[in-house]
Amino acid sequence: MSTQTGIGYDSHRLTPGGPLVLGGVRMESEWGLEGHSDADVLTHAIIDALLGAAGLGDIGQQFPDTDETWRDADSVELLEAVAARLHDAGLAARHVDATLMLEAPKLGAHRDAMRERLAGALGLDPRHVNVKATTGEGVGFVGRGEGAAALAVATVEPLVAL
Ligand code: MG
Repeated sequence: MSTQTGIGYDSHRLTPGGPLVLGGVRMESEWGLEGHSDADVLTHAIIDALLGAAGLGDIGQQFPDTDETWRDADSVELLEAVAARLHDAGLAARHVDATLMLEAPKLGAHRDAMRERLAGALGLDPRHVNVKATTGEGVGFVGRGEGAAALAVATVEPLVAL
């Protein structure tokens, strides 16, 4: 077994009232994301990328929204659970790259905190968890401020190779 890669995508609706949680970081905002957990769209995309890389299905299979355990959950706790499931499968996260699509607020001030929190959950150096952000330039559901989306790719390696 060698290096394996996976892709993840997620989107959530924006609703009035915060807080907004992205990459495990709570930020002040007039708008928050709606969902069963904390609706952390960035962390959810990363989780799906990791599960994809490991061949472990997707976030809905691993953490069903019928399971009350995860209601209003801190999604970084789900990410930690994914790291444990990877370990059980003889794998470890090696690198993550993600793009968050959101019209506002600007995320530059929070980027390092997101990288640190996400990397900490995966036992990685923050330089191996890259977070990028882009707006929708006024076009589509992101551009109209109706929601946020995120894309991620992840690489996993066998534990023995680390
Ligand atoms: Mg989600």
